[in-house]
Amino acid sequence: MHSIDKAKTILKQYFGYDSFRHNQEEIIQNVLAGNDGLVLMPTGGGKSVCYQVPAMLFDGVTIVVSPLIALMKDQVDALRLNGIEAAFLNSTQSNTEQNFIISKLQSNQLKLLYVAPERLLGEGSMFINTLKRFSVSLFAIDEAHCISQWGHDFRPEYLQLGELKKHFPNIPVIALTATADKLTEKDILEKLQLHQPKVFENSFNRENIFYFIKPKYNYHFELTQYLRQHKEDSGIIYCLSRASTEALAAQLVEEGFSAAAYHAGLERNIREETQNKFLRDEVKIIVATIAFGMGINKSNVRFVIHVDLPKNIEGYYQETGRAGRDGLKSEAILFYSAGDVMKLKHFAQVENNPAQTEILLKKLNQMANFCESSICRRKYLLNYFGEQHPDYCGSCDTCLSNYEKFDATELAQKALSAVARLNESFGINYVVDILRGSASEKIKEIHKQIKTYGSGKDIGKEQWVRYIRDMVSLGYLSQADGLYPVLKLNDKSWRVLKGEEKVMLVKSITYKKEAEKTLAEEAVPHEEELFQQLKQLRLQLALEESVPAYVILSDASLLELASYLPQNENELLQVSGFGSVKLAKYGKAFLKEIGDYCKSRQLSGRIHLRKPKRLRKESPEKPAMVKGSTDRVTLELFLSGKSVQEIAAERKLTIGTVENHLAGFVNSGELKIESLIPKSKIEIIKNKYEELGAELGIKPIKEALGDDYSYGEIRTVVNYYRFWANNNSYN
Ligand code: ADP
Ligand code: ZN
Repeated sequence: MHSIDKAKTILKQYFGYDSFRHNQEEIIQNVLAGNDGLVLMPTGGGKSVCYQVPAMLFDGVTIVVSPLIALMKDQVDALRLNGIEAAFLNSTQSNTEQNFIISKLQSNQLKLLYVAPERLLGEGSMFINTLKRFSVSLFAIDEAHCISQWGHDFRPEYLQLGELKKHFPNIPVIALTATADKLTEKDILEKLQLHQPKVFENSFNRENIFYFIKPKYNYHFELTQYLRQHKEDSGIIYCLSRASTEALAAQLVEEGFSAAAYHAGLERNIREETQNKFLRDEVKIIVATIAFGMGINKSNVRFVIHVDLPKNIEGYYQETGRAGRDGLKSEAILFYSAGDVMKLKHFAQVENNPAQTEILLKKLNQMANFCESSICRRKYLLNYFGEQHPDYCGSCDTCLSNYEKFDATELAQKALSAVARLNESFGINYVVDILRGSASEKIKEIHKQIKTYGSGKDIGKEQWVRYIRDMVSLGYLSQADGLYPVLKLNDKSWRVLKGEEKVMLVKSITYKKEAEKTLAEEAVPHEEELFQQLKQLRLQLALEESVPAYVILSDASLLELASYLPQNENELLQVSGFGSVKLAKYGKAFLKEIGDYCKSRQLSGRIHLRKPKRLRKESPEKPAMVKGSTDRVTLELFLSGKSVQEIAAERKLTIGTVENHLAGFVNSGELKIESLIPKSKIEIIKNKYEELGAELGIKPIKEALGDDYSYGEIRTVVNYYRFWANNNSYN
């Protein structure tokens, strides 16, 4: 059998998965060929499989370096439950325990051994020298960004790993991380001294996480309302200060929630206990500072809420990334206030280090822009990390809102000319005051004379601020770095001023009420009551084994059980996550629960409705689940034969909004693009897109094609092709 086929067999047999995800297959092939590699994959992407499957195919042992002792046990337990011989070595174990493990190593009984970096290379290289006597097949370095000072989690112990290749020049090393930026990547490769490493990149899009930004005004009410609606779910609430984590946790407990505080100032045993309770679902909500979370492997974190503004996008993305590792729909909610920006500005001042201060302030400003602009949140985030994304994701607050764009060229020209006349020396608020003709004393007398003073009276202050933020996000204006983010003109600004470029901005946003109730759209709806019963059963089994529940089976697997109602072992094997060992151990218990449920309701099995994972659409762009039900209404009207114009009239929506709804279904594969736009037009738009690109938006395409082609048609086709082009390169 070809080695990759063997790898697939192992994936099914031990892990219970039908097929590889992202580029797991290529990565594994590279490892099996004995080469070094660096894997950049977002949290929840499935990095572990990349070394665990090869470990099963190699004769010797795979050494996994991991920074967190607390996590090793869970990882090892999870492997053992899949029937894989694994162990960990760390300072919490007694000598006897450690010797026992070393004897297992000696007799080649272990497939994987987890160690901390200092255990591997410290103590005068004693352990590494011992290892040379055994048969080591592979080194896997998890959380590899910890080696880089550029990263946010630098761990000096990781620097020792630079020695690894000297000790074992011929053993392949695979480094893995979810940290994306180029600087860190370069650093990892250099410090680890990898030999002709192949770098595997993936899209960092977390398609199952929905992003919401909400005004931080009376937010406690909204927060508790949300938590009440999600009582069964686990989640993390991030606060800025230690004191506020404790205050909020106490308040939530008083209000009847299962919550606990976590921060670095608490005693170690308390922290560990809290973390363990969270992992084991005994505490549902952790209210924490950012000290909480690195390496939190819990796969069923359903929501991450920021009640204070994160300091930068990197942090925000990492924290929100702790939600939804199991691939099920999860939510990231941030309560935003401009006051938080001011507060954080204060923290960003690094004494005697103006350069550092400037970087921190710039990052903070980008964070504020993210919250205040009205472009798709996902697009903003991915662009920030250097990735392209269509304008519409269908799973963030901006995409789930009805927003109306309008030709704002004239308005933008007013703003730009005010910036010019103020000699590019003032920030947003001052420029807005000028535009609105503010009589405030803060306004210099000479500025009251300039031509644009008062030219934008008819527009409210907040509205102006948002327009200008949007102009910055869209590149029509630049903002200086540093403590005073003054507005600056750039090439694009001049093109607008000269009338060479039009500006489209979002006029008004009305939130779709239904948006937040959106539920994961499932091919086959699941039986909720059974799902809850299965969770109970899982908890019981987890207690017996004393492991966290998600180690037994993920929520995603339980959801499949509750959807497809497998009736026998054969059918059970088709459910994702059931390998042969788990089947033997737990199969009967789950089958009985499902069988009883089906009998009492006269339901029969639905496994024939389950398509193998590969056939299900899986892609970075697809809003995997869900659209707001309002999109669905549009879709249904469309499928019933109504035209876009008719639907817009009937639903009192703009044509653009209706087109946006339908475009989402085109991207998710539910609606054939040909049913929306004539084939002949698709071809022509596609050709123009290929010729002109869409880096500057779709306006150039529209101009080239003329009046017969609407913006909506062009946008739909462009997004569709971008989507498929991306899709192919990721899978
Ligand atoms: P990461 O370390 O990249 O954050 P994990 O390795 O913990 O992610 O994997 C995340 C989840 O995805 C786990 O529950 C894992 O078992 C699951 N998973 C990994 N690979 C696959 C696959 N090919 N098919 C289905 N599920 C997978
Ligand atoms: Zn979006």
